[in-house]
Amino acid sequence: MTRRRVVILGASGSIGRSALDVARQMPGRMGIVGLSAHSNAAALEAASREFPEARTVLSSSPGGLERLVELACHPEADLVLVAIVGTGGLLPALAAIEAGKDLAVASKEILVMAGGLVMESARRRGVRVLPVDSEHSAIFQCLAGQPPDAVSRLVLTCSGGPFRNTPAERLAEVAPAEALRHPTWSMGRKISLDSATLFNKALEMIEARWLFDMPMSRIDVVVHPQSIVHSLVEFRDGSMLAQLGVSDMRLPIQYAVTHPGRVEGLAPRLDLAACGRLNFEAPRRKDFPALDLAVEAGTREGVLPAMLNAANEVAAEAFLQGRIRFPAIWKTVARVLEVAPGVENPGLEEILAADAEARRLAAEWLA
Ligand code: MG
Repeated sequence: MTRRRVVILGASGSIGRSALDVARQMPGRMGIVGLSAHSNAAALEAASREFPEARTVLSSSPGGLERLVELACHPEADLVLVAIVGTGGLLPALAAIEAGKDLAVASKEILVMAGGLVMESARRRGVRVLPVDSEHSAIFQCLAGQPPDAVSRLVLTCSGGPFRNTPAERLAEVAPAEALRHPTWSMGRKISLDSATLFNKALEMIEARWLFDMPMSRIDVVVHPQSIVHSLVEFRDGSMLAQLGVSDMRLPIQYAVTHPGRVEGLAPRLDLAACGRLNFEAPRRKDFPALDLAVEAGTREGVLPAMLNAANEVAAEAFLQGRIRFPAIWKTVARVLEVAPGVENPGLEEILAADAEARRLAAEWLA
């Protein structure tokens, strides 16, 4: 039984707090050697009193990014959990890999923007990139012990969001408050809105493409409103494996630390008889074009996924501010992808430049 020495980047956010819960539950398996928060100094101080051996960084302070990168390379760490919202986790994640640390990825942007780069550096350095998102953890769990050539398809489950049953013509009228009402998970604003547009699932498809080295053509989505089945793998012989559990992020975080082993955890037990029914339906791809935009971006690769992500962030913010209607989020992203340049195996600078260009284009069109 190995004890993992973990750095948590983004310790005051929802994933970070769940990770601290997991560390409290299994001190023999998980030590905390580093903690960062962006601006919540009080939360960081409280956590550092509880885990006094941890180095701490408040990343909004002067030189924050540099110190974050340094923390990600902490000589005593063997696993770095990146749970920073937005694109700020990318540089520390790449630095952690270069320093030989395993990476647990909770920030979608890292693999969406720079999946090729991240996975290539991880291969070169011989470190692992572990999923923390519930869907990817489910696939990771279903794949355990299976030979890679046995897999035919990955199937991500999707709650369908608050507009699963909303008629297409009503989507132009929905208000930000309605879009933020997620049926099964309680989350931050951006991710809640992404669940309503299905861009959350779009980003997860691209993440899955890199994490599991699977072409987009073999990554599917099925709507499952109860969020009990967290995702599935279909094998060549037609057999499917699924991972089930209550919606509790502590479970995927814990598995990233203990895998392939398992220990007692904090997540409540699933009572299938109490669930009664599990429903599945096809996503409304025409009415919610985010999934097809992900297939396009993930197939053409290069800087397209980074541009999709950036354009979505700008358009999502404009919708939340009441400046544009809901369907304009998809239209903005589609327009940015239309003019996106083809770049093969982009480096970090090209990715960051494409991200900036997509933000500029989207803002210009929305102004
Ligand atoms: Mg998810």
